[in-house]
Amino acid sequence: MDKTWMNLCAAVGLILPLAGLASADASADERKDLAFEVIERNAQQMTDISDSIYYFGELGMQEFEGSKLLKDTLEAAGFRVELGGAGMPTNVWAEYGSGRPKIAIVTEIDALPGGSQTPGEFGRKPLVQDGPGHMEGHNTHGGVAAMAAFAVKQVMQRHNIPGTVAISYGPAEEQLASRPFIVRAGYFKDVDAVIYLHIRDTLNTGFGIGNYAAISSVFTFHGKTAHGAVNPWDGKDAVDAVVLMDMGFDKLREHLRPSYRAHRTITAGGIQPNIIADKGQIWWFVRDASMPAAKETYDKLLKIAEGAALMTGTTFDVKYSASAWPQLVNKTLAEAIQKNVNLVGMPKWTEAEHERAREFQKTHGLPVVGLVTAVTPLGGRPQATSSNDNGDVSWVVPAGSLNFPSAIPGVGAHEWKAAVFPTSSISHKGQVAGAKTLAASIIDLLTTPELIQKARAEFEVESKRTPYFSLVPPDAKPDVELNRVEMEKYRSDMKKSYLNKTPRFN
Ligand SMILES: [Zn+2]
Repeated sequence: MDKTWMNLCAAVGLILPLAGLASADASADERKDLAFEVIERNAQQMTDISDSIYYFGELGMQEFEGSKLLKDTLEAAGFRVELGGAGMPTNVWAEYGSGRPKIAIVTEIDALPGGSQTPGEFGRKPLVQDGPGHMEGHNTHGGVAAMAAFAVKQVMQRHNIPGTVAISYGPAEEQLASRPFIVRAGYFKDVDAVIYLHIRDTLNTGFGIGNYAAISSVFTFHGKTAHGAVNPWDGKDAVDAVVLMDMGFDKLREHLRPSYRAHRTITAGGIQPNIIADKGQIWWFVRDASMPAAKETYDKLLKIAEGAALMTGTTFDVKYSASAWPQLVNKTLAEAIQKNVNLVGMPKWTEAEHERAREFQKTHGLPVVGLVTAVTPLGGRPQATSSNDNGDVSWVVPAGSLNFPSAIPGVGAHEWKAAVFPTSSISHKGQVAGAKTLAASIIDLLTTPELIQKARAEFEVESKRTPYFSLVPPDAKPDVELNRVEMEKYRSDMKKSYLNKTPRFN
């Protein structure tokens, strides 16, 4: 805590009892009204950002067009923007203001392989055959985060609110590949609270442990090649080692905690049967409800690799690929965000929008429920067995979470059907609700020191139960080549659909 903020805390403590709570609330209303006004005025600019990113359809670590658009837009809006931090060319960190409190939005803009789809088309119709695309709606995160931060900036300026608002757009969330590096680089050291931002079919927050811990590594075995029939005794089969590692882990499964998950794919399995393979490769994901539990299983997996190498006379190396802590979502922050969820409420859908959602659900055999009309009440949420690398952030700084209603109920992420609506009027309205809720929550955090103190106190207790450690080996660098070849195959065709917009907030 720096001095200015301590003084502010003291000032608030002195003034509140005299001025009374009613006037404090009134000024809060005024600030939020201004933020909402700014967002309504700039709704088109916000959705131009999100829609542009949809058509960029960039895979993780290849978000070059998207990160440039965000940099240009946010710089023009008065933010300081760093592109390329923590060793990743598409990593965006933007901020406005100075000193504490410092509140950061944490989100991502990457697309998925094979997700290309013509928006609005109910049947499968890629914009570019086999090309990547936004079948989770991460494109909407780009606009909502920028919009909310800009609205907060306008309020900070008008009302002389001290502190900093920041946005972290981390690359390659779909490969869990960036946040541990961003944490390691120290970006969150002077941050007081973060809010995770993600698309969903409702406006909600939550608290507790969300998502699973995951560790992903690639094991490469090295053997000795020989003719499979003439002199197989001279060979050392690296694919045998891969198979033995796989079998070895299956023998372990019985002795693991029921909460574990582990899955693998064989990424090098030899060339042809009569050549003893000198290279075999297997890529593993190990997960569990907590990182120490996942690490325990992972350490056993390492021993199994040693055993497989010993049995086959091969050697092996391990390449760290990715890792993610579960999210530790702060209840104090959830309660604060929920107030703004209730204040903003769900968008007013038109009958045509409801009908379109129902028609889509009917077409695809989903429950025909239309769109969500009421905000979700606050509650704990069940821990998901999937992972998000933003989890690491929540073990070094108190984290809240906000989902906004830009998706259609019943449509699962990571399937092309989820790429039909991210640029629709439904998505656009959901983005407005998301930006307002996010802006209002950041304003509360910037102007209510006791809220941050309470969130921090909760964090100190909860995070101490499982002290954070990084899975990233000290010498590891982010894999900035990730998806490069795949993206280059499609980019020139995808360019034909670019919107070529230059959104400017005002
Ligand atoms: Zn996501």
